[in-house]
Amino acid sequence: MTSNPPDLRPDLAPKAQFGDSPRAGQPTLGMVSLGCPKALVDSERILTRLRAEGYGISADYAGADAVIVNTCGFLDSAKAESLEAIGEALKENGKVIVTGCLGAEPEYIRDHHPRILAVTGPHQYEQVLDAVHAAVPPSPDPFVDLLPATGVSLTPRHFSYLKISEGCNHKCKFCIIPDMRGRLASRPAHAVLREAEKLVDAGVRELLVISQDTSAYGLDRKYDVNPWKGGAIRSHITDLSRALGELAPASELWVRLHYVYPYPHVRELIPLMADPDNALLPYLDIPFQHAHPDVLKRMARPAAAAKTLDEIRAWRDTCPEITLRSTFIVGHPGETEAEFQHLLDWMDEAQLDRVGCFKYENVAGARSNDLPDHVPEEVKQERWERFMEKAQAISEAKLAAKVGQICQVIVDDIDEDGIATCRTKADAPEIDGNLFIDEGTEGLTVGDLVTVEVDEAGEYDLWGALVAG
Ligand code: SF4
Repeated sequence: MTSNPPDLRPDLAPKAQFGDSPRAGQPTLGMVSLGCPKALVDSERILTRLRAEGYGISADYAGADAVIVNTCGFLDSAKAESLEAIGEALKENGKVIVTGCLGAEPEYIRDHHPRILAVTGPHQYEQVLDAVHAAVPPSPDPFVDLLPATGVSLTPRHFSYLKISEGCNHKCKFCIIPDMRGRLASRPAHAVLREAEKLVDAGVRELLVISQDTSAYGLDRKYDVNPWKGGAIRSHITDLSRALGELAPASELWVRLHYVYPYPHVRELIPLMADPDNALLPYLDIPFQHAHPDVLKRMARPAAAAKTLDEIRAWRDTCPEITLRSTFIVGHPGETEAEFQHLLDWMDEAQLDRVGCFKYENVAGARSNDLPDHVPEEVKQERWERFMEKAQAISEAKLAAKVGQICQVIVDDIDEDGIATCRTKADAPEIDGNLFIDEGTEGLTVGDLVTVEVDEAGEYDLWGALVAG
């Protein structure tokens, strides 16, 4: 689980990050956004609407007339974090509106926090706005309340999340997202492209495509075709990715795909990733969750029967520089030592570049809770440690092999000592590693795409020097 960057959370922020402070008398809201990047996009949409209606945004509790808490309810630990954030907002501000995934369980929230003003579920933007209007009436001033063309972004200006669909048609046993967010609902491709184009025009250099199931994009729309730029665009992930990658030259834009399931048509994306003229990055964030077919069947994972090692080999044949990131669950009910060892052996073969690993946790409402043979905590912990040790060794060796390479990086931050924190094409923000440049960064600006030579590697990060471009 991630949350919005600490410096943009009223509960953690030392100072306001929004450029323009609220004017005197302007109705003002605070927002605490918990959960995954998808929830962050929802928060951005709510704030965009509120800004359009003339509300100011406060980065501290004291300056806000009310606070919206966008919650996460995926794991029990995330629920606890959400309840804690609601409690803090009530204590510090007193007027609190709750939305997001945990909003699907209003009684649960009200049992803990009866004083909240309103609860709405995920994506109920209109209901959130109604609750805000009731709590803090709007006071629009058409001469000053101009909505920025791209809306309000909680992420730094040079990268932006782009949500292409919502919900999921699968029923993985450990997951309650389909119950909370409903079945797959894709946005039409031309609407996604229009939003992406606006973001790129506003200076965004990296688009992070997100959804619950990116490979399934458009299935619910029967891959409909809509007019776009004098031609037509099909609501299919291959066509959408190609068009996103053509919005700007590959030297000026990065397009990164997240949450891609290993369906056979993913193969169509790989030649685009290998095309130097298309801005689609050679990067696949593909949640395998496990490698043993019996565990995958017990999890009821989509594409459980796919021969993933063969697929990975084929992807690498077409696009040798592809970076593969994945997440795994260890200690799922019924996982035997032999099945876990199969996963470790698979990792040796697959040589994934980046991995995350979760110890299985029961989630209220998940079907996996009722599966037999739950794995004891100490066994889960021991497997997690063995898995991470292997993943770390692979990551270290992969990074060491990059020393001496010339690559393009994006600048995320430059501190007061002139040290630039950057990322290579192999690194997504907030979940992967960094490349640091220690010297000669005068003249660099956040969001620049520059060329470096890698000169040092650690377990997860790289160091490099600027190369005259
Ligand atoms: S594919 Fe499975 S894990 Fe992913 S959102 Fe759908 S049900 Fe949940």
